[in-house]
Amino acid sequence: MKVMKFGGTSVGRPERMHHIAGLVTKEKEPAIVVLSALSGTTNALVEIGELIAKGDRTGARQAIEKLEAHYQAFIAELVKKPEATAKAKAVVAEHFEFLHIILRISFSEALSKDILAQGELLSTKLFCVYLEEQGISHLLLPALEFMTIDHYDEPQIGSIKVKLNQWLKKHKGTSLFITQGYICRNARGEVDNLKRGGSDYSASLIAAAIQASVCEIWTDIDGMHNNDPRVVKKTVPVEQMSFDEAAELAYFGAKILHPASIWPAQQYNIPVKLLNTMQPEAKGTTITEEAGSVGVKAVAAKDDITAIRIKSSRMLLAYGFLRKIFEVFEKYRTPIDMITTSEVAVSLTIDNTTHLKEILKELEPFGTVEIDENQTIISVVGNQIARTEDMVKKLFGSIMNIPVRMVSYGGSPHNISLLVPATCKTQILQQLNRGMFGLE
Ligand code: ASP
Ligand code: MG
Repeated sequence: MKVMKFGGTSVGRPERMHHIAGLVTKEKEPAIVVLSALSGTTNALVEIGELIAKGDRTGARQAIEKLEAHYQAFIAELVKKPEATAKAKAVVAEHFEFLHIILRISFSEALSKDILAQGELLSTKLFCVYLEEQGISHLLLPALEFMTIDHYDEPQIGSIKVKLNQWLKKHKGTSLFITQGYICRNARGEVDNLKRGGSDYSASLIAAAIQASVCEIWTDIDGMHNNDPRVVKKTVPVEQMSFDEAAELAYFGAKILHPASIWPAQQYNIPVKLLNTMQPEAKGTTITEEAGSVGVKAVAAKDDITAIRIKSSRMLLAYGFLRKIFEVFEKYRTPIDMITTSEVAVSLTIDNTTHLKEILKELEPFGTVEIDENQTIISVVGNQIARTEDMVKKLFGSIMNIPVRMVSYGGSPHNISLLVPATCKTQILQQLNRGMFGLE
């Protein structure tokens, strides 16, 4: 059995939904199909939630009506037969009625999660209505009945496994299951989610839980590319990479895959394939335990980084200094991405600045603290890159004009990270494309 996950753009237009119905029925292997919300929907739901939270009910009502009109137009193209049209209308009515009811009750955090869940509930139900119209037999698997997270918002893989396999056992004859990505239930039993972009994570968790033959992530690009196609002109897909490489790339900026979605597949050794809905015959990227080849494979950029430098003569020959500094970040649950040290100073980067003020205040007693905002991490990722001939020469040779603020090398054999001012991002990605990959 395999898992096929389709992202927002792959289901975002009626003809795309028709197209993916073809893709999921093309092969004989039974599949669990995981869908995102139609593109734009989750953003709209976030906005609706924010308007309600602010008490702007008129604004929220208008936003709900606008979204509903979008769905009315969508279903008019999605299905044609009267019976299917009536069913699709009932689905839309049900979920928008719910949103209108929410307008009337007092706002809470839990309610905002309920609002966000409507996107995936709508996309899966509408897809099922279309499949039914086409006479394609299938079953809707409600994610809220098996996808759960604990008190720390971590997925409960053990229980997901048990519940999901019970479902599959009960429906042995079925070979096509449709389920929602992103949504889940939390430890309090409330509707919750796996954070933005979390449908990939759902797919990987499901693939791990059922020991799938493969976890296919279908998007609008033919795999993980060697560089950011939005920034440089010529990029090429990477055919094969390891889980470790994919994790570094996903974390350090490659938007195609949610970073957390690597570990379940890696832990249960399920190959992950990144494929293009619009170009199903393209090879895409295969991610397995094997790296495929030695060498640099890709660069990625992570924006909105803040660098913090703590300088202190007390650090000289001292021990325990780093621990005290790290404890401050731990206290404010703020992850550190990059770190470099000298004998009298330490520099580190964070991307979550929610508690920056408090962190800076607590760091003050340790020495002089300086911050640089608007930085970008450029990550060069590959397999055993240190062993690649001329790698350092090619890397630094191609970016001599860039004011690099930090370099992190040796943390893993798969990654070199550079911190540069955000204003240099385009230039450095272009120069690396030429210098390291010989591409313009
Ligand atoms: N619909 C959710 C989002 O837009 C989850 C996903 O698409 O992966 O973030
Ligand atoms: Mg996504």
